[in-house]
Amino acid sequence: MKILVCGAGGFIGSHLVKRLKAEGNWVRGVDLKHPEFSETAADDFIIGDLRDPKFAKGITDEPFDEVYQLAADMGGAGFVFVGDHDAAIMHNSATVNLNMLEACKEAKVKRIFYSSSACIYPEHNQLDPENPNCEENSAYPAAPDSEYGWEKLFSERLYMAYGRNYGMNVHIARYHNIFGEEGTWDGGREKSPAAICRKVGEASDGGELEIWGPGTQTRSFLHVSECLEGTIRLMRSDFAGPVNIGSEEMISINGLADLVMEIAGKNLSKKHIDGPLGVNGRNSDNALIEKKLGWKPSQTLKDGMEVTYQWISMQLKDAGRL
Ligand code: NAD
Repeated sequence: MKILVCGAGGFIGSHLVKRLKAEGNWVRGVDLKHPEFSETAADDFIIGDLRDPKFAKGITDEPFDEVYQLAADMGGAGFVFVGDHDAAIMHNSATVNLNMLEACKEAKVKRIFYSSSACIYPEHNQLDPENPNCEENSAYPAAPDSEYGWEKLFSERLYMAYGRNYGMNVHIARYHNIFGEEGTWDGGREKSPAAICRKVGEASDGGELEIWGPGTQTRSFLHVSECLEGTIRLMRSDFAGPVNIGSEEMISINGLADLVMEIAGKNLSKKHIDGPLGVNGRNSDNALIEKKLGWKPSQTLKDGMEVTYQWISMQLKDAGRL
């Protein structure tokens, strides 16, 4: 097949390109930048800005069998929940989605995938850290806790409207905290699994580990390999979604810190500091994906965290920080 991956210089996009190439497809990647941690596996990689409608039309100059639209202005809590980037997040990501849908419509793309997020779920269903509700049909009445979530919800609706009005074959996943090797681990856009691996990696045994907030907030985390499996299965199914792609293995941030310390063989004392937190609790609900695709992720959090910790330790060594 001929496949286009937008956001191919990013974390999930660069892994997706590798996976699609390993299947034997011809792949074009597009992004503002090249992948940070390894060479792209794409046959053709075009650098450019998808906020420019002419550029978006130019890269869809052939009838692709599949387009994966992952490009977004994106980051962890330290980027999304601080407020300073709200206008840019909404403007940039919405513009990319508006442009890509028009371009795909004109190019008669056969199938298009859009990566939405667990951040679309209403805050009021995620107040109890032990019992968050992220069932797909709980999304409305809408009340996401970030502008990032509102943009994702708007864009989900945009993809569905193009599907209905123009007969386009769209597929939408709501990703829940994807992590793994070759993800951002420093600089402000990193997410909690990478940040905790970095902090534990840099600390000496017996030292301190800084954690944002009380650490009682719960989440689930999905390794990128499982995310890709779910994404490709969804794309090639007759189910449009939106559907959760996430893990149901919920853990508190304190629990995640304990897990990383166990992997690293270090004992650190937790120091709770102020920081942006997001909702109190969040967990994937996989009933729908299991019903529609007969599949759900199966790797344990520990499996994925072990490889991620080893990879971040290597980055720290290479950067002379160990
Ligand atoms: P990422 O930031 O690593 O990748 C996004 C890529 O999009 C970046 O490489 C960026 O340069 C590119 N991009 C942004 N604006 C662009 C533009 N105007 N033109 C061209 N390229 C542009 O993020 P990721 O973790 O790989 O996430 C991929 C997608 O999945 C995003 O849409 C994100 O919102 C969604 N998602 C991710 C997670 C997660 O936990 N990683 C969770 C929910 C949803």
